[in-house]
Amino acid sequence: MESQEIICKKCNSCGFLTISAIHHCPECSKINWVDYNLTGHGRIYSYSKINVGFGKMTNQTPYFLTLIKLEEGLNILAIIDDSFSKKISFNGKVKFAVLTDDKIYKFNIIE
Ligand SMILES: [Zn+2]
Repeated sequence: MESQEIICKKCNSCGFLTISAIHHCPECSKINWVDYNLTGHGRIYSYSKINVGFGKMTNQTPYFLTLIKLEEGLNILAIIDDSFSKKISFNGKVKFAVLTDDKIYKFNIIE
């Protein structure tokens, strides 16, 4: 199901944040996770234009695959949803838009 919220796991013992499905906290080795709502604000750390997609993305080319650094410090691999109506740039501000049914994070450029 599509989600308008971007949620990660937060270690309740040491504060470590992750969007990955992991068992033990890699920082403190505890198993004490709680859901944590991220703001969805971040900046483009890196991007690449994809002209030949595969799998679920075959029919969505061309698109920009980006590595986004969220303001909470997490890095997330995502697609820029509006990259052809606005100029994509390194360090450009983005805001989370949606997590699709296919578990693809999509962001919009806000600056
Ligand atoms: Zn921890």
